[in-house]
Amino acid sequence: MLKFICPICEIETDETELTPGGEAHLKRMGPGSSDQNFYTYLFERKNPRGIHFERWLHSYGCGKWFHVARCTKTMEVFGTYSAQEIKPPKKILDAIKKKLPNGKNVK
Ligand SMILES: [Zn+2]
Repeated sequence: MLKFICPICEIETDETELTPGGEAHLKRMGPGSSDQNFYTYLFERKNPRGIHFERWLHSYGCGKWFHVARCTKTMEVFGTYSAQEIKPPKKILDAIKKKLPNGKNVK
């Protein structure tokens, strides 16, 4: 079972309290973008076997969205952070690079 520390209310939650929101750090495409960019924004998502940055909603807790960096292969969680951050914090990227020295699959 996945367990995360919600960065908003700072309590440990398990996945029964959470709602997955898919890939994090999507670049929003709207009016003025090409049809292909809008299609990609709406429908195409990464589904890696490895490091993945995801959105989760603490639906049975504080009700806030947050981001998680985890490995989909090992289920290891590298950290959680606010959904308002536009890229993963350095300490999380450093933890991932420490685990995977060649930086494979890291943004
Ligand atoms: Zn929370």
